[in-house]
Amino acid sequence: MIAQVIVDVASKQTDRIFEYNIPSQLDDVAIGSRVVVPFGRRKVQGFVVGLSKTTSFQGKLKDLLLVVDEMPPLTPELVKLSEKMAQDIFSYRITILQSMLPQVMRANYRKILAPIDDEAKQMPYFQGEPIDLNKVTDLKEIVFIKKLLRQNKAKVEYIVENKAHKKTEAVFYLAKEKNEFIEIYENLRKSAKKQQILLLDILNDYNAYPKRGKQLQEELNISSAVLKNAIEKGWLLKKEIEVYRNPLQHLKSDFHKKITLNHDQQSAFDEIKSAINQNKSKTFLLEGITGSGKTEVYLHAIQETLNSNRTALMLVPEISLTPQMVRQVKERFGSSVAVLHSALSAGEKYDEWRRIRRKEAQVVVGARSAIFAPLDNIGLIVIDEEHESSYKQEDNPRYHARDVAILRSKFHNCPLVLGSATPSLASRARAQKGLYELLKLNERANKKSLPEVNLIDLKHVEFAGGQFDLSVELVEAIKAKIAKKEQVILLLNRRGFASFMLCRDCGFVLKCPNCDISLTFHKDTQQMQCHYCGHTESIPRVCPRCNSRKIRFLGTGTQKVQEEITELVPQAKILRMDVDTTRKKGSYKRILDSFGRGDANILLGTQMIAKGLDFPNVTLVGVINADTSLQIPAYNASEKTFDLLTQVAGRAGRADKTGQVLIQTYNPEHYAIKLSQSQDYEAFYRHEMQVRYQGNYPPFFFTTLVSIASKNEQAAAKEAFLIKRKLMTKLHQPTIILGPTPSSITKIKNQYYYQILVKYKKEPHLNQILHEIQDDAQLAKKRGLNVYIDNEPEKII
Ligand code: ADP
Ligand code: ZN
Ligand code: ZN
Repeated sequence: MIAQVIVDVASKQTDRIFEYNIPSQLDDVAIGSRVVVPFGRRKVQGFVVGLSKTTSFQGKLKDLLLVVDEMPPLTPELVKLSEKMAQDIFSYRITILQSMLPQVMRANYRKILAPIDDEAKQMPYFQGEPIDLNKVTDLKEIVFIKKLLRQNKAKVEYIVENKAHKKTEAVFYLAKEKNEFIEIYENLRKSAKKQQILLLDILNDYNAYPKRGKQLQEELNISSAVLKNAIEKGWLLKKEIEVYRNPLQHLKSDFHKKITLNHDQQSAFDEIKSAINQNKSKTFLLEGITGSGKTEVYLHAIQETLNSNRTALMLVPEISLTPQMVRQVKERFGSSVAVLHSALSAGEKYDEWRRIRRKEAQVVVGARSAIFAPLDNIGLIVIDEEHESSYKQEDNPRYHARDVAILRSKFHNCPLVLGSATPSLASRARAQKGLYELLKLNERANKKSLPEVNLIDLKHVEFAGGQFDLSVELVEAIKAKIAKKEQVILLLNRRGFASFMLCRDCGFVLKCPNCDISLTFHKDTQQMQCHYCGHTESIPRVCPRCNSRKIRFLGTGTQKVQEEITELVPQAKILRMDVDTTRKKGSYKRILDSFGRGDANILLGTQMIAKGLDFPNVTLVGVINADTSLQIPAYNASEKTFDLLTQVAGRAGRADKTGQVLIQTYNPEHYAIKLSQSQDYEAFYRHEMQVRYQGNYPPFFFTTLVSIASKNEQAAAKEAFLIKRKLMTKLHQPTIILGPTPSSITKIKNQYYYQILVKYKKEPHLNQILHEIQDDAQLAKKRGLNVYIDNEPEKII
């Protein structure tokens, strides 16, 4: 048999299948196996993407060297998926295969002792698992191992292991028969009290061994030295066995919590249910206002899937993958749930991923990359908050989780449910066309009316405290809520203290040396910071250009607003949540838990706090400046603004008390802001579709963005014009080619960016032309040029 392998070398020349002969001792290799192969003079890792009996290769094929994992990490479905994706998104296949696995699965060789025959596998010492020889230091154990080798019961092998350490725990096996222990006990010195205790336990509890070291130490109150001594005496054998890290272990299951669906929920659920039971690949768009109980519909659908012995995959945006959401799923489905997101440690992610692969978890909740969860037999895929831009990966491979979900739903013949209060225009338009089935939840689940939303026009307003951030009206409203012991959420989509430093004499603005963007003042660290590349520098005392001392800090950020509120409302206790306060693992959860307990009156934060949170005591939501997201130079800035305002407004008045929302803006007439006041998605959709139609933007046109980057600005511009020329000769009306133009932020991390936007309705050859451009770009790479191709970009910088 011959293995078809994609090797782990990302380049144009290696982006194809290489064939290897399968030696008989590696005949357990399968599609999806990770293998080690000779490649030129090196040994490299690769993935088996096919098996065949014949080859057209003329020479002699080389042999596979090693199969890395006991179980192939990829399923045949994922292997097939990678092939399709590589075509669609202009990525090397190996890059896609790698991104399907937990990041920590990178090659690293390890020496192990493996049992040879079935008899050896049955030995309690092995328990069917190989032993890591790198970890064996105990002399007695080494003697024992040598004996096994002599007796041909085990062999030494080298395997490629992951950098992620499996977490292990010491377990102690009995090395003697019971009657031998009786004899030892009887001959023991009377003074050896601790050893007596251990021997008594061995005699009384002989069948309960092997026992965990921790357990022995705690229950018998003996030290590790006693156990070590027992090993030296030949009573016990120690073995490290793996334990799974479980990020959800602190959560309790509460299977009895049953909620009866209301009318809208029930009819939505019925539709999804019938698709699940008929094994239908079908996409639903579940459109329900905030608080309408979409989550409950998902949970019912997941239950239905489990009842029919299939598995369920649920994606949630990173940002709203809150402890609250995870808890709900965990409460309902207990230990069948695995969770995958960036707040987990690398080890936790690796363990959760393997639980899924080994079919020990049937429900997966996770962020974007969880769309590649190696689930078998999928019966349902859910994407909550489907409009979120975080589902699109901005770096290579530039995939959209929604597109991958559609491919997987087709493979598994299962429904895909896209849920949102503010669906992306693209999805809503598809539902309008009948490509998706639209399901609507029209009212809040607990019959609470939507909060009252008022706009505060910053052009005609009295500001509090001599600053230009908080209106008197907003400050008074905050005070009133605090007096009633109710809570407040404040949104400001910019972290830091002030957004830029300006010299009043010469107009100089301090910018990042690597990026074409102004530095942000951070008061707590007393530094100027670049929010794009992380560059920091100290605060200049005088203007670097004219030496003037008249330096001013303009604009605002979460740190500054925190300081202002502390001054204006001294009784307020404030929790701040932004990138700066949530760097440490677990800090996100800590802040939310603290707010949930009522430790603070105000939760102030960036868009991190806008979504998914459900705090019953929050009755006021304030938006400090609604205009920040309108000013982003992207065709979908209005959509993002409407979405953000609607979502954050939905955090108010979720329980018994009625909510109030105050939005400060300089643009109260703008339709995205005005319509968020009435939370009228339908009206917004109609208006925005008009705007997109007139501008030839999605969903009326498809878009592809070609970005050209170089340290040398002229080289980038020149290459961009060459690419444009090539596109012009091959593409025709009504396709529109815009640019090349410098990106709105021309320079990022010392690279200059130029971009070309292709807008088209139907271009059957575009894919091929872009692949050609990408191949040419491979040559240009040597001249320091990088070309990126992004289908349906979410952001146009
Ligand atoms: P959404 O995700 O649509 O914003 P949620 O799923 O968070 O809304 O539901 C809002 C609240 O309504 C939650 O507290 C939830 O427990 C509750 N809820 C959902 N469905 C029902 C129901 N059928 N009856 C009563 N309460 C419900
Ligand atoms: Zn100056
Ligand atoms: Zn920078």
